Amino acid sequence: MPSLSAVLLLLLSAYVTLELCHRVRHRESDERNAWLMAAAVALVCGLGGGQVLRLAAQPMPEGLGFDPGLVISAMLATLVLCVAALNWSFRPTSGWIPLLGGAAMLGLATQIVQTLMWSAAGASVLADGSMLRLASGWALSSLGFAAALLIFLPLREGHALRQLPRQLGAATAATLGVLACQSLGLGVAELSMAAGGQDPGAIANGTLGVVATLGGGGLLLLMLLASALEGRLRNPLASARSRTREDGFRDGLTRLPSRSTFEGTLSQALQQADAHHRSAVLLHIALDGFKHVNDNFGHDAGDAVLKIAAQRLSALAAPYRLARLGGDEFLMLFDGEDAARQAKGLSTRILESIAQPCQVAGRELCITTSIGMAVYPQHGAMSALVSHATIATRASKAAGGAIYSVFDTRMVDDVRDQAELLRDLRMALSLGQLELYYQPKIHAPSAQVNAAEALLRWHHPKRGMISPTVFIPLAEHNGLIMALGAWVIDEACRQARVWRDQGMRMRVAINLSAHQLRQSDLPAHISAALAKHQINPDLLTCEITESVAMEDTEATMRFFSDLAAAGVHISIDDFGAGYSSLAYLRKLPATELKIDRSFVLDLEHSEEARKIAEAVVQLALALNMKVVAEGVETDAQYQILRRLGCDQVQGFLFAKPMSAKALALWAMGNDGPRSIQFRESLFKATAALET
Ligand code: C2E
Ligand code: MG
Ligand code: MG
Repeated sequence: MPSLSAVLLLLLSAYVTLELCHRVRHRESDERNAWLMAAAVALVCGLGGGQVLRLAAQPMPEGLGFDPGLVISAMLATLVLCVAALNWSFRPTSGWIPLLGGAAMLGLATQIVQTLMWSAAGASVLADGSMLRLASGWALSSLGFAAALLIFLPLREGHALRQLPRQLGAATAATLGVLACQSLGLGVAELSMAAGGQDPGAIANGTLGVVATLGGGGLLLLMLLASALEGRLRNPLASARSRTREDGFRDGLTRLPSRSTFEGTLSQALQQADAHHRSAVLLHIALDGFKHVNDNFGHDAGDAVLKIAAQRLSALAAPYRLARLGGDEFLMLFDGEDAARQAKGLSTRILESIAQPCQVAGRELCITTSIGMAVYPQHGAMSALVSHATIATRASKAAGGAIYSVFDTRMVDDVRDQAELLRDLRMALSLGQLELYYQPKIHAPSAQVNAAEALLRWHHPKRGMISPTVFIPLAEHNGLIMALGAWVIDEACRQARVWRDQGMRMRVAINLSAHQLRQSDLPAHISAALAKHQINPDLLTCEITESVAMEDTEATMRFFSDLAAAGVHISIDDFGAGYSSLAYLRKLPATELKIDRSFVLDLEHSEEARKIAEAVVQLALALNMKVVAEGVETDAQYQILRRLGCDQVQGFLFAKPMSAKALALWAMGNDGPRSIQFRESLFKATAALET
């Protein structure tokens, strides 16, 4: 009878082997080989250890020992056979041949370890009549392994508790086969042992028994533990992997299909459109001013806006017909009967839906969107459709946003034109094509000039003079505004110095772009330019448009404080057109409000415009600020503004923007449309400030 420890060791070994074989089945190359080796070692522990323990339980001659060389050979031979057998049985392609072949090899391994172990104990097992019993032993153990594999192979790697009964059943079948084989072998060995002798250098039977129980059992338990740990670690890893695979198809933030997934849908839809002689429409949807949301309210707010936009678009799109292209851009496909006409209605609904206010980071934000539409097949094949829809969106944006545009081949020319202009603009600075023009600011009560606003001009070699309203936005969107802005600051300070040296007492105003406000060292840069040209900071005014100045953000406030600390004046340009918060305006260290030209234009005919101008003057008075009216073109406008109490006026009535040289001639010759004289600054006696 086998001892309990031998049975338990075999059972444990078979169970652990099967447990590790799960990994052999489901892993790839290197990892698979490692698990295969571990499973084979587990089985060898059981087969070798079980054999030793089986022997130890027999009534043996006193002092029976094992030849260590043969023990090691037995183990190695069994290991090789087990590796080969398990490898065969657990190949990716299953079938009867691998199953039976593997089982037969495992039976052989059982028989070999047994025979060699007996030989190691000095017994001869190849005595007469033993072959039949040995062959029967091999057959029985092979049968046990075949049954074990049959029970085990349908099992999938999964929850340990759910597979426990089947795995235990399979382990029991293998154990029974091995025990039967051992029993038959034992009879053969007993016969010949009586005649065998004992090698004095051998390992004692008892010692090997202890080593087999403790070593084999311990090793098997360790393997079981390692396997369980790996399983635990692997599950989250596996779900992360499947999530990553899923992420490849979907955009992480909005969970909309990714661009690559959408391309597949698009290609299928266009094939369908071809087959049914129908058209399909691709909409390219881009949020307006999304960068502004990110810059001013943070990226979390930006993400929230994108999610809201995605939800609103999903509600209007057919399933799988919407994707996020990246950033604030989405693609929507529309096909079916009369797609081209229907898509216009859809676009209108999209514009309305996105324009609904949304709550983000405790604020109510209003975002609009621009849409570009490209129709298949009229506007190009699939490869061109996305780029043509994108070009149409650009046209929508150029027209002010919040509209849809249908692609037109002329738009490609516009894009090319813009690209050329941008290329030229990059060179404009170094080629000296930029120049500052100056428009005088007139002291309203006395009609004397006391300041000049610097306005940038670009002398394009082929296109002539280009307005800043054309190239400033281009520079802003293409990373050129910092360089242009820096040049303007330096050039205006240099010119102020020249005028000072010529005895002309004029303050100088420069315009700052919203993008420049994000440059935290701009106040320091302005101070450096003033110092370089020895201009008192009090003689420089920085004009910032109301829409930019009123962005109630920490960054804007810090920028204004730094600028004021540098000693320069701050003017809020185009005032009245935006939505100023009075509470915020009060906090701003600004010294001047410039009434927007649109109100000045309507002054003579619109009571409302007059009231607004009056209100701005009163507001400035209350906030201790000066008021400038720009765009004054008629004497009537000038008289009204004077009566209202405007401090300064500026406009074509007095002078158009002109080159610095022309301004000097104009001022000195007094040959302007009105008789102009210089007067002291509104802010301080200019002469006293000369450096
Ligand atoms: P702004 O600062 O509000 O400048 C006033 C604009 O109105 C100027 O146009 C000026 O030529 C024009 N203007 C002045 N008086 C009259 C008038 O009586 N009637 C009419 N119809 N127009 C008048 P300009 O020079 O084309 O500049 C347009 C805008 O470009 C400026 O508006 C300013 O925002 C921006 N800009 C100009 N130079 C620079 C610059 O150096 N840097 C930055 N960031 N922006 C600049
Ligand atoms: Mg201005
Ligand atoms: Mg203005």
